[in-house]
Amino acid sequence: MLIVKKFGGTSVADKERIFNVARRCIKDYQAGHDVVVVLSAMGKQTDVLIDMAKDINPKPPKRAMDMLLTTGEQISVALMEMAMAALNVPAVSLNAFQVAMHTTSAYSNARLKRIDTERIRHEIDQRRIVIVTGFQGINKYDDYTTLGRGGSDTTAVALAAALHADACEIYTDVEGVYTADPRYVKNARKIDEITYDEMLDLATLGAGVLHNRSVEMAKKYGVQLVVRSSLSEAEGTVVKEDVNVERMLVSGVAADKNVTRISVVGLKDEPGVAFRLFDALAKANINVDMILQSIGREGTKDISFTISGDSTDDAVKVLEDNKAKLGASEIKTKTNVAKVSVVGAGMMSNPGVAAKVFECLYNSHININMISTSEIRVTVLIDVENTEKAMNAMHDMFELQD
Ligand code: ASP
Ligand code: MG
Repeated sequence: MLIVKKFGGTSVADKERIFNVARRCIKDYQAGHDVVVVLSAMGKQTDVLIDMAKDINPKPPKRAMDMLLTTGEQISVALMEMAMAALNVPAVSLNAFQVAMHTTSAYSNARLKRIDTERIRHEIDQRRIVIVTGFQGINKYDDYTTLGRGGSDTTAVALAAALHADACEIYTDVEGVYTADPRYVKNARKIDEITYDEMLDLATLGAGVLHNRSVEMAKKYGVQLVVRSSLSEAEGTVVKEDVNVERMLVSGVAADKNVTRISVVGLKDEPGVAFRLFDALAKANINVDMILQSIGREGTKDISFTISGDSTDDAVKVLEDNKAKLGASEIKTKTNVAKVSVVGAGMMSNPGVAAKVFECLYNSHININMISTSEIRVTVLIDVENTEKAMNAMHDMFELQD
């Protein structure tokens, strides 16, 4: 059996944890399996590197930023090879160059395009454990790129797909995927099985447990994932196409506080305005999420939308540059907002979930700024200070507790 095992930063945060991971991998190896290990940077190393960069230059060049950030993962894999060698097990650490993990050229947010499997296959054939840097790739200029924060999950899934692995295990510091973040929701509990679609929504909407692109890729290539703890033997959560258990109406509640709402005020109420606005943002690589357009009055209208907090400066610049062209009178930003979502495949066949969400917020005296829905999701934008209150209220309303 070929097993891809990915360990996050907390799982390799210090010497003791590195040896813990080494031993877990060696156990599978000694059982006769082929083992490919994907690692993140140790502990908070990536944040430390970002702080170092910003201290030198508050707006560091993106290429140099990726050059810096890729060192984090390189440290982990090198130390892991040393730990395995200390335990007398043959292992080899490889970075994105050595494997050849090809990505698009966008620094800091590249997408994996193709992985050469030759070198890894060769190492596996020599009966070595292969330890690969997560999060990084190389682009057509032979420069390092990174896949976006949390991107090591995506490296692992992509490797599992490319190598036709028999299992892809994502190890973390919690026991799996929860109905809500247990740090904020007291009745949160672990989910045994979840579909790709639900997991994709939860990951995108702030569950924080898997990189959303890893779930997208797992669905596309049919890679079944297991999310489990590196510190216990607990079963974890299986992420797959269909789940057998009787469907809950809602399977999880997620929140994202890293959100900015932008309102473009006084736009002309005529065809093509929304196109010009969102086209300008798209050209600057800015992802837009919830969108709300007001009813036109006296020939003008307002368009509000949300973006990731990280894109705030870029978005404001694009909009200010295009203000005259768009005919806007004012651009307003609001950063103290959060997106709270309930997700569940059971919604597809059960009406009334949105109404229940609104009732629940009303009972908690929480005002709604914006709303968006899909077949399996209801999302509301609220003031950030109400986030935990809203999450707990929704979680308990849908009886997600034991
Ligand atoms: N080290 C990177 C980060 O902190 C990638 C990862 O952990 O998956 O975002
Ligand atoms: Mg992660």
